[in-house]
Amino acid sequence: MEKKFAELRRRFEEVAALGSAGGLLGWDQRTYMPPKGAEARGKALAALEEVLHAKFTAPETGRLIAEIYDWAQAKGHDSFEASYLRALKRDYDKEVKLPAEFVAEFSLACTAAYEAWHKARAASDFSAFAPHLEKMVRLNLRKAQYLAPALQPYDALLDLYEPGMTRAKLDALFPELLAGLKPVIRGIAANKDKVSDAPFRGDFDEAAQLRLADELVKALGFDFERGRQDKSAHPFTGGSSRNDVRITTRTLKDWLPSCVYASLHECGHALYELGSPEEFEFTPVAGGAGLGLHESQSRFWENVIGRSRPFARWALPLYRKHFPGKFDGVSEEDLYRAANHSESSLIRVEADEVTYNLHIALRYELETLLLDGKLKVKDAPELWNAKMKEYLGVTPANDAEGVLQDVHWSQGMIGYFPTYTLGNLVSAQLYGAMKADLGDTDALVAKGEFAPILGWLGKKIHVHGRKYLPEELLQKAIGEKIQVRPFVEYIGAKYSELYGFRL
Ligand code: MG
Repeated sequence: MEKKFAELRRRFEEVAALGSAGGLLGWDQRTYMPPKGAEARGKALAALEEVLHAKFTAPETGRLIAEIYDWAQAKGHDSFEASYLRALKRDYDKEVKLPAEFVAEFSLACTAAYEAWHKARAASDFSAFAPHLEKMVRLNLRKAQYLAPALQPYDALLDLYEPGMTRAKLDALFPELLAGLKPVIRGIAANKDKVSDAPFRGDFDEAAQLRLADELVKALGFDFERGRQDKSAHPFTGGSSRNDVRITTRTLKDWLPSCVYASLHECGHALYELGSPEEFEFTPVAGGAGLGLHESQSRFWENVIGRSRPFARWALPLYRKHFPGKFDGVSEEDLYRAANHSESSLIRVEADEVTYNLHIALRYELETLLLDGKLKVKDAPELWNAKMKEYLGVTPANDAEGVLQDVHWSQGMIGYFPTYTLGNLVSAQLYGAMKADLGDTDALVAKGEFAPILGWLGKKIHVHGRKYLPEELLQKAIGEKIQVRPFVEYIGAKYSELYGFRL
């Protein structure tokens, strides 16, 4: 059995190594690749993907999994062998269930849909994207049927991004969240002039923004010997291994938070990857347990820490150093308030931490209705706009700033959006548990002592890689299921104080 496990590991290591090469090609594609390199890069990545898929789904791998699965589980649920086999089997089963022709058809449809979406968004013309979205819905229904015919289609898809999560759980969670946020949003709207973001507006040298971003993530614990930070249009975390984690940020000359908070966000993702144990490298248990948990790490550093009062205290001298003169008349309190200016707006990626989840609730409703056949694609813009009005009190002037704003559906991703909200909820739960263990973290943050905080996350979450399903890991780490209340309480307390209203 040991020998068979070694053989399985050798096989998987090859797959992971190819994936690692792909990670780097993908990173380069989104950062430094000259525009005309796109076609060749697309071919290279597709060819790599094909080899990777073939290697991963080789019958020999399936045979080995079947032969040693029970042997590995007998070593104990928490053992490396048992976790390795569970994670591998989960991935393998998904991959082999999708026929090669379907994978090719799906991939081609995504390429076409992405192109169409790009043009449709530029022209704000939903009708040009609608046939592609219809196709995406159909293909996702087929995909769900291949993956798990016994499950509701949405559950089968959700499982790709957040293993173990179900629509029944989300259906309970979103209404509670919306109900909890409503009075906060109302309170903010009634007091909207009380918090100003003026300190963040002006003219900020872009090279200085990037130097500040480097200094911030380094202080949080990002190791530049094991990663780098660059610029891209859409910030992301990628790279090729736990010792080569790459994050990107963006800069807007007249709006500093764009760079700072993209950087803190991606750093949170990176710290999770950097914290994956050395011995997990190139195994199925390397990395993060699910997209929701991953997002909990990025949101924790971006919002819970990065938009806190003690963080403003610590960061103000850095702002002054990188932008001489610009922050002279700005107090710690001004900076804290500027970082937490909240306003209902149209675009998800620009939304603040109060309103963000309403954008997600809307997308969740629409995509479940689309899959159920209860919403026709052609009617999606109208429902989108009505829901925006209902949840956020704003109405898109056109489809580009409405139903066409996100890339996800054009890339075939239905069931992905809820992971953002799950991440926000978990970030607040982790914060509560962390304070119970470490005491007052504010004093640490105010001094820029982030190591105990990162250490806590490392010990509770990062060190387990993908050994457990997200919910199991959360239970193990803090003894809780995913809950709405801690997040609602965190938001309520913070914003009622900031905007001066009573809940
Ligand atoms: Mg993220």
